[in-house]
Amino acid sequence: MDIQENVSLKGKTTMRIGGTAKYYADLSAKEDVEAAIKFAKENSIPLIMLGGGSNTIFADGEINALVVRIAASEVSIDGSLVTVEAAKNLPMLINELAADGFDLSPFTGILGTVGGAVFGNAGQGPKGIWIDSFIESVECFVDGSWKTMEKQECAFEYRESVFKKLNSPIIWSVNLTIPKKDPEEITAEIGRLLQQRLDTQPHVKTAGSCFKAVGDTPAWQLIDTAGLRETKSNGVHISEKHANFLINDGDATFEDAVNVVKTIDEGISEGLEVEMRFVKEDGTLEF
Ligand SMILES: Cc1cc2nc3c(=O)[nH]c(=O)nc-3n(C[C@H](O)[C@H](O)[C@H](O)COP(=O)(O)OP(=O)(O)OC[C@H]3O[C@@H](n4cnc5c(N)ncnc54)[C@H](O)[C@@H]3O)c2cc1C
Repeated sequence: MDIQENVSLKGKTTMRIGGTAKYYADLSAKEDVEAAIKFAKENSIPLIMLGGGSNTIFADGEINALVVRIAASEVSIDGSLVTVEAAKNLPMLINELAADGFDLSPFTGILGTVGGAVFGNAGQGPKGIWIDSFIESVECFVDGSWKTMEKQECAFEYRESVFKKLNSPIIWSVNLTIPKKDPEEITAEIGRLLQQRLDTQPHVKTAGSCFKAVGDTPAWQLIDTAGLRETKSNGVHISEKHANFLINDGDATFEDAVNVVKTIDEGISEGLEVEMRFVKEDGTLEF
């Protein structure tokens, strides 16, 4: 494992906000995972897992941590069981599996990696389909050892999983059982859902979703109803297309994004929960 120093994080998140990682490494093999955890412990710094960075922004200074990304992205199919390594890009997986008749179309338009999707149980809204519907088990490094966690142990709920509560868990791969359909039907559905996303969501320098739904009410609706759609702080504003996404106007800072979130949070009495990860210089989270 090659540990690099002073690595820019800006290009590693879709919102393009962030300073540098004091230490950074790509983890290609399971031994790298163990070595990374050892390095972080020996240097008394946090280990921060990063996937595609579509739900993460970093502070603008130096992040005093070891930031790591899984580099393994193999997909293997054994009968009806599909095993996917964590770094696999989710949109690519959806398209590739469609050709084999595996239907992951409900997740069309969700950016990032499979590891990130499992961690946050990515998917549709509170009443829709989430990735746990198709998960059989997750292979991960937790509390110093490798484990295969069965779905029931993962405590999946809407945008929740046990991984959010564990100390630096590293998801290595996931076993999925995916419904089968005619490939042409799947491809048509992916196309339809992509167009719907393009019409209703931003696709430039954005990260999201910023807030979780409250009960069955989507966050964008609460933001809209409270008249907060115009919220802006210097280089960050709320998307005109979808009120649950922040947009970087080009010169946005971490502080701008934090200010927008705070303004929205203060203006909504229902109490919003921040879903996006705001990583501060000391490696802890802003919200
Ligand atoms: C335009 C747009 C549309 C979106 N639409 C949706 C949507 O419809 N539904 C939805 O659920 N989300 C949506 N999102 C949010 C985002 O795409 C998902 O949350 C995605 O699953 C995050 O994956 P990532 O790899 O980018 O994670 P990152 O932002 O890199 O990380 C997110 C969290 O996952 C953890 N993580 C990542 N990989 C691993 C791993 N291997 N092991 C352990 N922990 C890991 C990180 O530590 C972090 O806490 C959208 C985002 C954008 C920008």
